Amino acid sequence: GRVVDDEEGGVIFLSGSHHSSSSSGYGHASIDKQRQRLPVFKYRTAILYLVETRATTIIVGETGSGKTTQIPQYLKEAGWAAGGRLIACTQPRRLAVQAVASRVAEEMGVKLGDEVGYTIRFEDVTKPNVTVLKFLTDGVLLREMMDDPLLTKYSVIMVDEAHERSISTDILLGLLKKIQRRRPELRLIISSATIEAKSMSDFFQMRFSSALAIRKRREPENEGHGLQVEPAILSVEGRGFNVQINYAEEAVQDYVQAAVSTVLLIHEREPAGDVLVFLTGQDDIEAAAQLLADEVHTNGKHSSGLIVLPLYSGLPRAEQELVFSPAPRGKRKVVISTNIAETSLTLEGIVYVVDSGFSKQRFYNPLSDIENLVVAPISRASARQRAGRAGRVRPGKCYRLYTEEYFLNHMSNEAIPEIQRSNMVSCVIQLKALGIDNILGFDWPASPSAEAMIRALEVLYSLGVLDDDAKLTSPTGFQVAELPLDPMVSKMIIASSQLGCSEEIITIAAVLSVQSIWISGRGIQKESDEAKLRFAAAEGDHITFLNVYKGFHQSGKSSQWCHKNYINYHAMRKVLEVREQLKRTAKRIGLVLKSCESDMQVVRKAVAAGYFANACHLEAYSHNGKYKTLRGSQEVYIHPSSVLFRVNPKWVIYNSLVSTDRQYMRNVITIDPSWLMEAAPHFYQLQQSNPLLR
Ligand code: ADP
Ligand code: MG
Repeated sequence: GRVVDDEEGGVIFLSGSHHSSSSSGYGHASIDKQRQRLPVFKYRTAILYLVETRATTIIVGETGSGKTTQIPQYLKEAGWAAGGRLIACTQPRRLAVQAVASRVAEEMGVKLGDEVGYTIRFEDVTKPNVTVLKFLTDGVLLREMMDDPLLTKYSVIMVDEAHERSISTDILLGLLKKIQRRRPELRLIISSATIEAKSMSDFFQMRFSSALAIRKRREPENEGHGLQVEPAILSVEGRGFNVQINYAEEAVQDYVQAAVSTVLLIHEREPAGDVLVFLTGQDDIEAAAQLLADEVHTNGKHSSGLIVLPLYSGLPRAEQELVFSPAPRGKRKVVISTNIAETSLTLEGIVYVVDSGFSKQRFYNPLSDIENLVVAPISRASARQRAGRAGRVRPGKCYRLYTEEYFLNHMSNEAIPEIQRSNMVSCVIQLKALGIDNILGFDWPASPSAEAMIRALEVLYSLGVLDDDAKLTSPTGFQVAELPLDPMVSKMIIASSQLGCSEEIITIAAVLSVQSIWISGRGIQKESDEAKLRFAAAEGDHITFLNVYKGFHQSGKSSQWCHKNYINYHAMRKVLEVREQLKRTAKRIGLVLKSCESDMQVVRKAVAAGYFANACHLEAYSHNGKYKTLRGSQEVYIHPSSVLFRVNPKWVIYNSLVSTDRQYMRNVITIDPSWLMEAAPHFYQLQQSNPLLR
């Protein structure tokens, strides 16, 4: 729908027909009735007509109008899945893929994984020749191109949530444009929650004129097919109710605390209706949930009737499902979420939104070559989306934990596409693997910076992935591209095969692929720290992971053992799964699976072979644990969650950085600096004059 924004008055009107049906009527209607009530239903014929007659259709519609769950079903009903073809719908987020696929399977009355399936990294819930509607992350679809560059098994590809401009979405759009040139019968749907459809349309338009010229020259018979080359833009008029905006009167110091107080105030003063709180990540979400739980406990009479539910990726499936189920009678649901609930997922029954004004965003600095996940202010476009979530079922209210002045004068209008604030290493290697050599000349929806590209080429060259002509090396380059991991992790695995410790390194890679294997949180910090000490290795976190894995294995993979040791059982199950998959891939690409038993030095060498670019040394005379990165001389510190926190060995390599008040290294291991020259002579060549390396 259209968003008419009356900033001065502080009221956002979400235009569209105001349905009189309330959400309470929803549950009783049959699934068909529910489906027909969605705004997108009125456009069913129009959408199918456009898909039939246009190569690309752009669909814009307010969150919750039914784009994601309905359009793939319409396509199937219209026969686009006939003859063994598949319909794909991509999402930037794994959690959204799972949630949406399971909803669609439910609506169709089929078992998830049969006609309706999904694929995310390390998890394939589809059946060959049975699945016809496939939900997947944009990243997974990119990987599928390595085996099937023209994506021949798909008849229609719906690139959903295009407004998010995730890095994989942008790469995908660039590649789909190329694919369409070769496969005019392929249909694309680009769907998005906001109206920047014009720029998308222009992007596809240009290719159509050139494609048309090519087709005219080469295959004049194609002209008679009547396929319109100009992309169509269809705007779905959503329903939506007025949302009253309330701003903070002055700047908020602690948004977690402010969010909690606001929720309690809403609960005390406002009539029934669920609350959706936007925070940034697992840490602040759990902190807020804990504060609310404490409040319910100590101050029962005000806060009884509150059901507090966190929502972030990495949450176990059972807990995710709770978020979608209606609150029991007389109870008020409070969902505390990352920005996944901004447009990717629709929650019914939300009447109040509390917006912290922040989200976790990726930032990359090509000068220091450091990529960070940072808690940063959202854009005005995001703030409007968040507010809109309160107006789905009836007029609602949005509480912004920032001032109106801040909203008007300090927030950016729109977010910068992720591709312009990311490290390009993974992106470059994927394009290279797809045979796209001129990466700087690639047709991007938004161009990445030349500096970021050059940095990426440099790192890939040092990793031995690219040769002097910037082509993938054989076998290393191709092996790295085959592994569904960050190139640095892949390189570590390949090195481990040569060093004879691949069993250990694959375990480490699997642990690094899950969010955290430790259970932490307010109130149990001391116990969990003590538990961690039982596994702590002097060499650092990676070796500590091996100790945990060994203990878990010896316990017979017991959940009690995990519980006793403050280890996340679900995470460990996931580690086992990922590990098996990585072992299969490793075997397929010709790596040797071998254990080094107890020789931890080779394990550390393998880590250094992948992560040499993240080497740091302790500042001489530093009493506060200040490190400098070897490249770029950035000031960094060991994260308190690391077993090396306060140990401060002289030379370390880190896995990733998080920045709060400082830059913190997460997952740290000690190294011998001489390994750096061994692992990446080119990379550190320029630094030979570096007195530290002599
Ligand atoms: P859009 O993609 O346009 O944002 P969706 O197709 O995701 O809209 O949602 C359409 C409707 O389906 C919404 O009213 C929403 O409440 C419902 N819905 C979507 N996912 C779920 C789910 N997992 N559980 C229950 N209802 C859902
Ligand atoms: Mg959607």
